Amino acid sequence: MGHKKPEVTAKRRKMVGMFFKWVLRFYYKHTPTCRCGWVMKPVTDSYFDYQWKCIWKDCGWEAFDNGDGKLHWFRRNGKK
Ligand SMILES: [Zn+2]
Repeated sequence: MGHKKPEVTAKRRKMVGMFFKWVLRFYYKHTPTCRCGWVMKPVTDSYFDYQWKCIWKDCGWEAFDNGDGKLHWFRRNGKK
């Protein structure tokens, strides 16, 4: 071993990412998927009944459900 092809490494990285997403999806049940494709985690100190934010702080997307069954998306910090 020792000789790794770049495409093998990329594939492995993708598989690890998929596994990580699966684990997070299992851990954060019933949470929406962020617009960036990752799972979201609940915001516990929210004004709304249900609010989530992306697990990545750099992403910035948040969503809330104020009872009408729809997700309302907004993004903090006005990222470019
Ligand atoms: Zn995100």
